[in-house]
Amino acid sequence: MNTLLADVILTMDPSRPIARNGAIVFDENIEEITDDQAAIAEWKTKTTVIEGGKNSIALPGLINAHTHLEFSLAAAELNYGSFIAWLASVIEKRETLVKGLTKELIDAVLEDTLRGGTTTIGAISSYGFDLESLAFAKQRVVYFNELIGSNAGAADRIFSAFLERLAKSDEYRSDRFQSAIAIHSPYSVAPTLVRKAIALSQSRNAPLSTHFLESKGERKWLESGSGEFKPFFERVFKLNAPFCSAKEFLSFFADTKTIFTHCANADDEELDAIKEIGGAIAHCPVSNRLLGCGLLSLEKLKNREIPYLVATDGLSSNYSLNLFGELRSALFMHEGLDLPLLARDLLRSVTDSAAKVLNLNAGRLASGYAADIISFRLPSEARDDALLPLQAILRAPSAMDNIFINGERV
Ligand SMILES: [Zn+2]
Repeated sequence: MNTLLADVILTMDPSRPIARNGAIVFDENIEEITDDQAAIAEWKTKTTVIEGGKNSIALPGLINAHTHLEFSLAAAELNYGSFIAWLASVIEKRETLVKGLTKELIDAVLEDTLRGGTTTIGAISSYGFDLESLAFAKQRVVYFNELIGSNAGAADRIFSAFLERLAKSDEYRSDRFQSAIAIHSPYSVAPTLVRKAIALSQSRNAPLSTHFLESKGERKWLESGSGEFKPFFERVFKLNAPFCSAKEFLSFFADTKTIFTHCANADDEELDAIKEIGGAIAHCPVSNRLLGCGLLSLEKLKNREIPYLVATDGLSSNYSLNLFGELRSALFMHEGLDLPLLARDLLRSVTDSAAKVLNLNAGRLASGYAADIISFRLPSEARDDALLPLQAILRAPSAMDNIFINGERV
């Protein structure tokens, strides 16, 4: 059993959000969070004590619910500013990006995100090239095998190749690694495949993930089969009409626990439908900015009580997978919202909310939860409780002082 001492514990447990001069007592799971000094003195005599240090702050390890590690090589050669120009550059450079990918490179990216405080990765895998790294990663992993395929005539062949990848990832299932399903998007997957993947995901009782209404061009294509997607799709995929409207696509997901990623161009009715489904939204503000997709309204989600999860997306549409960095960007981009409250909600989105959506018993420092814990030191004492989440986001260093996953120091 261990006792981590910290000047401030941000628990993400709404019944007890903050403990000062506190202790987290844990082995694999958290035994107790306490600020009772007599109890702490007692725990210190019978457990291994870890000092957080002066002005230390401890919180649950962060959860990045949506990233693509197969794009770890993407650097300066991609086009930014417009979604379709970016997509064309990804397709054009695909060979080089994928060819240059090595296990060592993915391992190094994973290690970097871990040092930055991310203890769980929701990885969208298009090819399975990242499986070996993620199956043996130190982090907790939800491995989303992504289905993509616009040729309905080849649906059987596409689906059986997908099932093979899924079965391969299932072999690595453990208390830290779970496999799941992702559907690429409404514009790139034929409805017959979408339905099959949803039915399979339901039978596995796992979270499902899909990109949805990322760009204005996608919205226009799904609505009217026109706009900037049209010439591109005709040329690249030999498609001259969309498979379905955005609303039809959503109707496939009824009663399916789904993460809809982006939704930057979803309208009120579509958000209502996501609420109805019981869906969550992965919000990747830096990626949306770089690809010219606009900014998701967090206010609209809050009004509907749709949970959102801030995530980085892949390095093909970001410059870093550091989740604290992504939270800082979100703080500055959603400039109309109350700052301390926004900071609290953002931090909750990558801890407690993300854990719930991914079916993980983590994301919260409370008795019985998995001991996924990070800590670092603030440069000086933060006295105002209401500003603690903001200070944590602003001051988090690139390397944490302490990182525990399942109670194990990593
Ligand atoms: Zn993505």
